[in-house]
This record gives sequence, structure tokens and C-alpha cells, in this order.
Amino acid sequence: MALMITDECINCDVCEPECPNQAIFLGPEIYEIDPKRCTECVGHFEEPQCVQVCPVACIPVNPEHVESRESLWQKYQRLMAEAKAEAEQDRHSREGGNPRLPPSAT
Ligand code: SF4
Ligand code: SF4
Repeated sequence: MALMITDECINCDVCEPECPNQAIFLGPEIYEIDPKRCTECVGHFEEPQCVQVCPVACIPVNPEHVESRESLWQKYQRLMAEAKAEAEQDRHSREGGNPRLPPSAT
């Protein structure tokens, strides 16, 4: 399951930098968790990092996003593949938007 932040959040900013998936962001009033990016820290850590650091214990599981460990693992792999593709794209832009052709194309 993805986790969620309840309205007990005191906006202390502690959890946001701890998330390895950049799933936590400041919403209109309090911090929120993007369920498409939260893997419960599966793939990175044994325990959810946001839960470990939250001083008011306001990060329960999100009952609207029930997921097995296997589907959390698949989400982690999708996020890693996306991050890798973005890094490649950034590298190509820095190199002038002219990626080297593979050997078969030369
Ligand atoms: Fe981020 Fe992990 Fe918290 Fe999910 S459980 S929001 S992945 S720190
Ligand atoms: Fe809110 Fe807890 Fe995150 Fe602090 S650590 S911003 S109280 S959810």
C-alpha cells in the first residue's frame, strides 16, 4: 500500500527530503504523498523512512491504495527505469542534444 499523510501533519518539513522516491510534496495545506510514487520504501529501505522521522505519527497506510509487496516492487522498478531514462535525456541535452549513434547505425 502507498502511505498517506493525515491532517494532523504540522508541516515540519522533515519527511520530504527523506523520501527516496520523491513521493512527498507540499500540498495546498499540508504535505501529501503521491500514491503513484510511494513504494512504502520497498526497494530502498526495510522501513518507510517518512514514518521513521515523523514527529506526530500522522502517516498511516492509504486504504484506497492497497498493493502487495510484489506490486510495490514493480512500482519501484518502474520508477528506477523512469529515473534512468530522465538521466540519459539530461545527459544528451548537456551534450548538445546529439546522442551518439549505436555502432550498428554507423
Ligand atoms: Fe516515500 Fe517511503 Fe514514505 Fe512512501 S513510505 S512516501 S516511498 S518515504
Ligand atoms: Fe507532516 Fe510528519 Fe511530514 Fe512533518 S514529518 S511534514 S508532520 S507528515
